[in-house]
Amino acid sequence: MVVKCPICQVEVTWEGNLHRPFCSERCRLMDLGAWTAGRYRIPGQTLKKESDKDRSDEEEPS
Ligand SMILES: [Zn+2]
Repeated sequence: MVVKCPICQVEVTWEGNLHRPFCSERCRLMDLGAWTAGRYRIPGQTLKKESDKDRSDEEEPS
């Protein structure tokens, strides 16, 4: 049986392939890396910088 490597699309034989469904360990690690990157991807969040120092106009009750 011949399958295509999902990473580099090269055709590899399924039988006796240690890295199936990938063609090599390199592609296996690449897939793992992509999966990990997707899992731990942080959604874009904007850091709001609120400065409390700029309060010179604040009225101080005496
Ligand atoms: Zn490959």
